[in-house]
Amino acid sequence: MTALSPALLAQLQSRRPLLWLNPRLGQHLPASAPATALIAAAEARLAHFEPLMATLFAELASSKGHVESQLMSAAALRGALGGDDAAAGAWFVKRDDQLPVAGSIKARGGFHEVLAFAESVAIEHGILAAGGDPRVLATPPARALFSQYTVSVGSTGNLGLSIGVMAAALGFDAVVHMSADAKAWKKDRLRQRGVRVVEHAGDYAEAVAAGREQALASPRCHFVDDESSALLFFGYAAAARHLARQLADAGRVVDAAHPLFVYIPCGVGGAPGGITYGLKALFGEHVHCFFAEPVASPCMLVQLASGGDAPVPVYDIGLDNRTDADGLAVGQASHLVSPLMTSQLAGVFTVPDDQLYLHLLALKQSLDVEVEPSAAAGVGGPGWLRDSPEGRAYVRDHGLDLSAATQVIWLTGGSLVPPEELRRFQAHAETLSRSRPGAAQA
Ligand SMILES: *Cc1c(COP(=O)(O)O)cnc(C)c1O
Repeated sequence: MTALSPALLAQLQSRRPLLWLNPRLGQHLPASAPATALIAAAEARLAHFEPLMATLFAELASSKGHVESQLMSAAALRGALGGDDAAAGAWFVKRDDQLPVAGSIKARGGFHEVLAFAESVAIEHGILAAGGDPRVLATPPARALFSQYTVSVGSTGNLGLSIGVMAAALGFDAVVHMSADAKAWKKDRLRQRGVRVVEHAGDYAEAVAAGREQALASPRCHFVDDESSALLFFGYAAAARHLARQLADAGRVVDAAHPLFVYIPCGVGGAPGGITYGLKALFGEHVHCFFAEPVASPCMLVQLASGGDAPVPVYDIGLDNRTDADGLAVGQASHLVSPLMTSQLAGVFTVPDDQLYLHLLALKQSLDVEVEPSAAAGVGGPGWLRDSPEGRAYVRDHGLDLSAATQVIWLTGGSLVPPEELRRFQAHAETLSRSRPGAAQA
């Protein structure tokens, strides 16, 4: 059973959006917590393999294999959401929706795990010397070796795109187990790249479980386990140092007088958890990370609020995990990530689907940015901090000055979405906004 307070439980069940503040923020990490050296190792691995990435993907030639996204000023979004005054701080959007090749936040973690596996197989078979030229992994002997191995993953979509495309590019037999809510265009795109797509009738957790079971039955199969993978987690964490450089380039200081707020959509927790872990290692108490979850799928919120290690799926509190934010439709938080967030995450706010669309429209109208519904979940973050009683209490209790703050809204996916789907999202959002004028500011 859960230890959620009756008031919180009732509000979650009513599907009314809320901001939950983490009462354990700032406690020390358990002694078993992974060391920050693992973040540095992931950064080093991604950097080392850049020449290989540039060889494998034509679109990475100009960046020499570097996979990163822009930090874009979002002053116009701030204006559109009713905060066009200095008291709201400086707003940015982090454009992971445009990460190359994978088109979502899943790029860093997914590429890191597939590269780490390819590296270990190649070293084991004497094709690659430790620290040697990584481009050897794109040569015929390496491809012939990799073709004997399967790389598989369970996904609602975007992780499958990241892992599937990367694994297929190296010549692995790539298999993606997809849940019922995965979009048809994502399956089509994978099949076009030579990835085997296995469809499952159930939810995300069932697709993952099916993939894990099949992988265990085969000795030459590496299963990318979204619910517990450290290689994914530390690949995601590598985003932090890059953001720190971008903030410095933009002239944004992060210290006690200049807090950094980051709002990231959360599914199983790997991507936002890794980024939070990386940012905390760099900025400590001066960075305040909040996750955004659909009102139907607040899995990280209920896991952290339950205060224990026993898994608490959202179904246990009567929620159905049905949302148009397919990347966030996860009923149970990662058991690797939730304990690590216990002391690091400032809080979680929840978002109804209608709000996702209204914020998607606000992004389009103010910044000419088009994303998928999941990716718009973080947009309400600064408003929660500025306008809600919980947010104001947080700002006051931590002695923060919002006018000196940097606000980063993490946009997490969208550039690979077919244009006709994007038009459908916008049309739906316009219908909603006509029936609810001014609602985007809520
Ligand atoms: C996967 C995903 C997330 C969240 O990442 P998790 O690791 O599942 O928490 C957020 N937005 C988009 C678009 C995603 O695909």
